[in-house]
Amino acid sequence: MASQERKVSTSVAVTMQRHEFGDTIGACNQKGTRTFNDLMSHESELLRQRPRLLTSYNKIKTFLDQSDTDHKICPDFLSFLRLYGRFLINNFSIYDLKHPAVVVVGRGIYLQPSVLDHSCQPNALQCSIGKTVLIKAIKPIEQKEDVRIAYMSPFDVREKRQLYLAENYFFNCGCPACTDPKVQAERNAMLCSNKDCHFPIPLDDKAGESCRKCGSENASQAVAANAALDRLLAIILQIQQTTAGRQPKDPKQYIELTTAIDQGTTLLYPTNFTLALAHKEAVAMLGASTTENGLDASMESLLKTIVSRRQHIGDYSYQPCFLVVKWLVDKDRDREAMALVSQVAEFFKTVAGETSVFYKAWCSHLSNL
Ligand SMILES: [Zn+2]
Ligand SMILES: [Zn+2]
Repeated sequence: MASQERKVSTSVAVTMQRHEFGDTIGACNQKGTRTFNDLMSHESELLRQRPRLLTSYNKIKTFLDQSDTDHKICPDFLSFLRLYGRFLINNFSIYDLKHPAVVVVGRGIYLQPSVLDHSCQPNALQCSIGKTVLIKAIKPIEQKEDVRIAYMSPFDVREKRQLYLAENYFFNCGCPACTDPKVQAERNAMLCSNKDCHFPIPLDDKAGESCRKCGSENASQAVAANAALDRLLAIILQIQQTTAGRQPKDPKQYIELTTAIDQGTTLLYPTNFTLALAHKEAVAMLGASTTENGLDASMESLLKTIVSRRQHIGDYSYQPCFLVVKWLVDKDRDREAMALVSQVAEFFKTVAGETSVFYKAWCSHLSNL
């Protein structure tokens, strides 16, 4: 969080130095146009939560007072807080889609898309072409339905999402993934023990009841699924503690994780968030293993993660996707390689258009396969 604070403070300092705030008008909805000053700033919550902002303000003030610009008048602390809050709550990341790793190259305020609310099950996503921000639908949207984007990764667990949204955007998320018992049940479900059924069986206090779809008995499957979940959570926690201590990635931990993912995949429903979280950790640890088996396991895990997640540009970072495609071709799994390349190409066609460098690059991979 400290690094995000630093980035936002820097952007605010540059804005203040240029003296460019509050006067731009953005097109909006039927209610009329909005200006930068109409954006929410939550200054009192901000100050309560981040008293260090006073120190940041003093640093920026010293910097502005000593700088050679024509605008030496530094706004007072309350104006700074409002500016900071408006920027923090409403900024959009600007991605460089030409960069092989799809990196964030800046942050900006976009008055029109800043009206869009958040959902942990978004129906649209934000993408950027140069400095232009585009909002693209990722599923059919009914005429009266709200367009919603995700302010953070929907793949984090509910508690983490709720905390992040409350601390950074000052609201309690009431989206279906956070409140609807059916959606929540699917996010914490196992597969029915009947291999041909694939129905989600919630892992709550009624775990082990017979399947509502096929009637199969599920008691022993529930015991195994709960054990697999405990194992996954224990390893994830261990990895997160190791990462927090900035220790190097541990190949042994990585193999433990991918083994637990394999066990979990046979027992848990594909939307189970612990499984998604485990995949995410596996991707972050890619490269931790140097053995041939370890490489295969990490590629397999990465493939599953890429195929199951379709909502974030970061998930389609060029290098990991391309590594998996190459690995699939090496293993004579051409059909899967083609399916993956088509999926990535389709994604970039949606978010960046048919003329984008990314779409063209992935189409050329497709024709080379
Ligand atoms: Zn939510
Ligand atoms: Zn069933």
